[in-house]
Amino acid sequence: MESGVEERIYVSVRLRPLNGKEILRNDVSDWECINNETIIYKNSALSASERSMYPTSYTFDRVFRSGCSTREVYEQGAKDVAISVISGINSSVFAYGQTSSGKTYTMTGITEYALADIYGYIQKHQERDFVLKFSAMEIYNESVRDLLSVDNTPLRLLDDPERGTIVEKLTEEILRDWSHVIHLLSICEAQRQIGETSLNEMSSRSHQIIRLTIESCSRDFLGRDNASTLTAAVNFVDLAGSERASQSLSAGTRLKEGCHINRSLLTLGTIIRKLSKGRSGHIPYRDSKLTRILQTSLGGNARTAIICTMSPARTHVEQSRNTLLFACCAK
Ligand code: ADP
Ligand code: MG
Repeated sequence: MESGVEERIYVSVRLRPLNGKEILRNDVSDWECINNETIIYKNSALSASERSMYPTSYTFDRVFRSGCSTREVYEQGAKDVAISVISGINSSVFAYGQTSSGKTYTMTGITEYALADIYGYIQKHQERDFVLKFSAMEIYNESVRDLLSVDNTPLRLLDDPERGTIVEKLTEEILRDWSHVIHLLSICEAQRQIGETSLNEMSSRSHQIIRLTIESCSRDFLGRDNASTLTAAVNFVDLAGSERASQSLSAGTRLKEGCHINRSLLTLGTIIRKLSKGRSGHIPYRDSKLTRILQTSLGGNARTAIICTMSPARTHVEQSRNTLLFACCAK
């Protein structure tokens, strides 16, 4: 694995199966992964002119057909990027897609597999001293909340000359053992559901970041600590529903929420497009909370993987095309 400068963003697409609701309403699946890199749109009911309006074939680093397991998605779409944190490289793994396309399903599994691999690695490598710190936050309405604390007070972002943007007062748990990891993941999940009216309402509008920071220090042959300490973080990001980036909402708080989600998602989109083109000019990290928090793990020497999740249903074709368009811009 290389610590490549200006490395491309690894972009994959995961197609989920039709769900029960879609099957009940006689929805059909219009998408098919024809090999490991290409997904095609195959609605035969379209007229030739309709068909000429949109691409029917899209190619990425990897596409995952609807029967793929999350383990497979992790191994081939996220693992390299996630575990590069062990070698001191910052990284981020994103799930992007419309609400109900499978972001949380995918990211929950990936986070657990990655943490298990990282944890297993450091158990086996006693020649370095490792300290693992776990934190989790949610960004809703451009307001940051600690997912490991019952206190809902919004957290402030501060600029630290050495560490970049830091989230003030964010809980950082030093990991003791594997059961501690599982415990923290379950707290995040429970915290995230508090205050949700309907399950999808809030999760479709908020971004969740689970962050693992690794500090490591090598020891010399006498077991003395060496001065070279490495610090790096890996971020697992379950983004707000991508329909929020395009939808114009009606009035009041819904409009406000819509605008704010637009800001973080749109800024992320802009940054990813710029990074994927290898642009060296101004990257607008400071335009949203999400991108400020992720700044040191996005671009530069950091590594990024994006898994775009999509529904195969005909009724979702417009959002699926938007997702693929985003994915195309990112690669
Ligand atoms: P999102 O987070 O994008 O809103 P979810 O991850 O909550 O979507 O998925 C919506 C529903 O679809 C959930 O019930 C989830 O279990 C199911 N689901 C998502 N992806 C898959 C998949 N690849 N295979 C089977 N079920 C899936
Ligand atoms: Mg979700």
